[in-house]
Amino acid sequence: MIQTFDTDASEHPSRPPSETFCILPWIHLHIAPGGAVLPCCIADWRKPLGNTSTHRIAAIWNAEPYRQLRLSMMKGDRSATCDACYQDETNGGCSMRMHCNEHFQKERAALDAMTPNGAVNDPRWIFLDVRFSNLCNFKCRTCNAQYSSSWEREDRKFSGSPGRRSRRKPLADDPMQQVKVAAARARIINFAGGEPLLMGEHYQILEHLIAQRLTHIQLRYSTNLSVLGYRGKDVRELWQAFSDVTAFVSLDAAGTRAEYLRHGSVWRKQIANALAIRRLSHHVKLRMSAVVSLFNIYHLPDLLDELATQELIDLDTDCESKLYKLKDPEEFSIRVLDATTKNKVAQRWEDWLDQRPLLSPALRRQIREIIAFLGEDHTGLGPLARRRIDEIDARRKESFSDTFPELQHFYRACGTS
Ligand code: SF4
Repeated sequence: MIQTFDTDASEHPSRPPSETFCILPWIHLHIAPGGAVLPCCIADWRKPLGNTSTHRIAAIWNAEPYRQLRLSMMKGDRSATCDACYQDETNGGCSMRMHCNEHFQKERAALDAMTPNGAVNDPRWIFLDVRFSNLCNFKCRTCNAQYSSSWEREDRKFSGSPGRRSRRKPLADDPMQQVKVAAARARIINFAGGEPLLMGEHYQILEHLIAQRLTHIQLRYSTNLSVLGYRGKDVRELWQAFSDVTAFVSLDAAGTRAEYLRHGSVWRKQIANALAIRRLSHHVKLRMSAVVSLFNIYHLPDLLDELATQELIDLDTDCESKLYKLKDPEEFSIRVLDATTKNKVAQRWEDWLDQRPLLSPALRRQIREIIAFLGEDHTGLGPLARRRIDEIDARRKESFSDTFPELQHFYRACGTS
């Protein structure tokens, strides 16, 4: 997912051109692990604007789907690919669209480069988010084969199908060369995956940026922090060359709950690596990125407290850590929980908030949005949730009941699988 940025919000007085306008299709390039080009990482993956395994990036950028998207945004029309943002806005939340429009206000001049048919020639992708593959050593309950090669292997083994397959595919022409050219003009590069710290391409890009003296570029990571290096390369050494690095660590729960939820993780190792990063604090900012699902919603306050105790986050000042509301797979959304469990969860969060009057406004706002989201009724998906939980438990020889005793009421309310 796209992470928060430290860009200067300018005092640009102008209003966005329309109610559906988003700056990203003018300044941002997102390539998903399988090569699908999307306007951003939360856009609907079923509606890609092109694929780099068949076309050059520059051709996709000014082909009909991208041009139509820009023209629709200028007119105020909605585009199906951006539904995630409209949904958040309908529910009163701050969408990624709103967030990016605010943080990239200064880049509004990029609109001047648009031709009447929606093309943007000689693009400058200020913000690059290129995912080289789905290579990942975890298979998180909230993820799928599109973003995890471990999930892909498991799907293949148990169902004979690779699921939402998204193996590494070559970009048309020389992939690294295209990305290097784009990187030379970028201001922010986001590395995600899969797990970027396991990807050789990630290290090649860092070494290229260092060799080209492009170390002013802000580096952003979505990482599970299970490793700090790859084939003899230590990412901490490479990071020393850069002035602005932020690692958003995927942490959703603590201890055995974490290891169930993010299969492949070793809680103590992740914390040890996070503490090792913390020692580089003058170079590297550490932030949390949690996916909020039915599994972790009850115990998430404990994780926040644990990370604060370890001085890995500062609850009073942190305005960048992210709590993402899981929507896909929908059956694991917090909306699926039964009313009794929801009440218990909501009360726990209210008590936690009451005890923390100094909590950062950004975290408080996100928690408020989560409590509101919890109120939506998707309990009809409970039986499907239980079937999927039991199916994956059987595959992995894990036990939801043993790991999440606090969710027994929900589990029973879903019936038997
Ligand atoms: S409107 Fe939302 S979904 Fe569409 S490109 Fe912008 S941030 Fe992404």
